[in-house]
Amino acid sequence: MPMIELAEALALVEGTAAPLPPRRQRLLDACGHQLAVGVVADCDSPPWDRAMMDGFAVRNADCTGAGGATPTAVELDVVVDLAAGDVTQLVIRDGTCGRIMTGAPIPPGAEAVVPIECALDGTAGAHAGSRVRLADPRFRAGQHMARQGAAFRRGQEVLPAGTVLRAAEIGLAAEAGATHVVARPRVRVAMLSTGSELVECDCEPGFGQTRNSNGPMLAAAVSLLGGEAIPLGLAADKPEAIRAAVAQGLAADILLLSGGVSAGDLDLVPEIFRQCGVEKVFHKVRLKPGKPVWFGRLVRGDGEPDTLVFGLPGNPASTLVCFELFARPAIQILAGRPRDSWHLPHERARLVAPCKAAPDRPVYLPCRLARNAESLMATPLPWTGSSDLLGMAGAEGLIALPAGGGRFDAGAEVDVVRRW
Ligand code: AMP
Ligand code: MG
Repeated sequence: MPMIELAEALALVEGTAAPLPPRRQRLLDACGHQLAVGVVADCDSPPWDRAMMDGFAVRNADCTGAGGATPTAVELDVVVDLAAGDVTQLVIRDGTCGRIMTGAPIPPGAEAVVPIECALDGTAGAHAGSRVRLADPRFRAGQHMARQGAAFRRGQEVLPAGTVLRAAEIGLAAEAGATHVVARPRVRVAMLSTGSELVECDCEPGFGQTRNSNGPMLAAAVSLLGGEAIPLGLAADKPEAIRAAVAQGLAADILLLSGGVSAGDLDLVPEIFRQCGVEKVFHKVRLKPGKPVWFGRLVRGDGEPDTLVFGLPGNPASTLVCFELFARPAIQILAGRPRDSWHLPHERARLVAPCKAAPDRPVYLPCRLARNAESLMATPLPWTGSSDLLGMAGAEGLIALPAGGGRFDAGAEVDVVRRW
């Protein structure tokens, strides 16, 4: 298959990926997931009129005179003590009040709460059976209580379909009685690094060995998108080793494999994908870095979602660029996220220093980005090529130069992709 254009490859990824079917899940397992069915409250919030201060639950008429700029102290009989969780049938009548704590239900007959700080003459500790003297210069009828249903009503949809469940949404769903929700599951993404030269990053590499930087990098990139990273470790360039690990990775929603997809003797991966039943969608894209990238899918049928498979070139900077261009939209689509979040945002920027384009393919170069009064300014970072992660690590974006060769001078307007 000849190299295809980047735009065509992106369209093929978008056309192949589909949102994962929603699933009923425990609320506590659904953090970061997107609701497929709205959450409807099974209760009012607050569920009853609730005290919002520690103090005394009073009748409005008793305390109107105790308010204003020149309050006249009012003396009331305390007839009940109510901590949060306590309830009473006792009715607060004129001339009486209840001692009440934040979170307790307002007793029948009471209409407002006077804070404990407004008790005079050492009566702040007054309990049932004693009297309290109150003067509240800021008194307003109905103060310091939250009315039943003021926040939401039983039967009200408090979280619509499409909502992403973050901390506040999880708390709200819990309050509304949703122990389970129907939501898109987190996208499970397996990552496998192939190459007989690779050792895990906690090892001291011997001569000829290379630390596996792609595995941790891809796991981080997946986590940053809210996916579940499933690291599969290393596989040597041996068909049996790669085949066994690929078979394991195909249980995930997406398999990201790095290394072994170019045209070298040990680039066994495309053939192994074929043997594992993974259909090729494309191999090789007109792109620098990242030309050897491979994409395909394992079709399961029976309504089961396909597993999407990316063979990413082994050089770490190529792996990262290919992840951002191809794997990112796939993860976003499977997660059911809106189209405007599929790709990193493109913007126009002016070059601060010259850059060289490639004759045959679009080039992505790491850069810093800063905005001045007129425009976004892109400063190319020193970068030695597709094995150099140092330049990528400091980058705030990528300069995207079209194919055609030639030099882009300082001041030229170019496309940039904002930081991942
Ligand atoms: P390949 O795509 O397998 O031909 O690998 C291209 C280059 O990337 C070689 O120098 C590999 O050693 C290097 N490489 C491959 N996989 C990794 C990895 N997981 N971490 C760091 N470097 C890698
Ligand atoms: Mg290799």
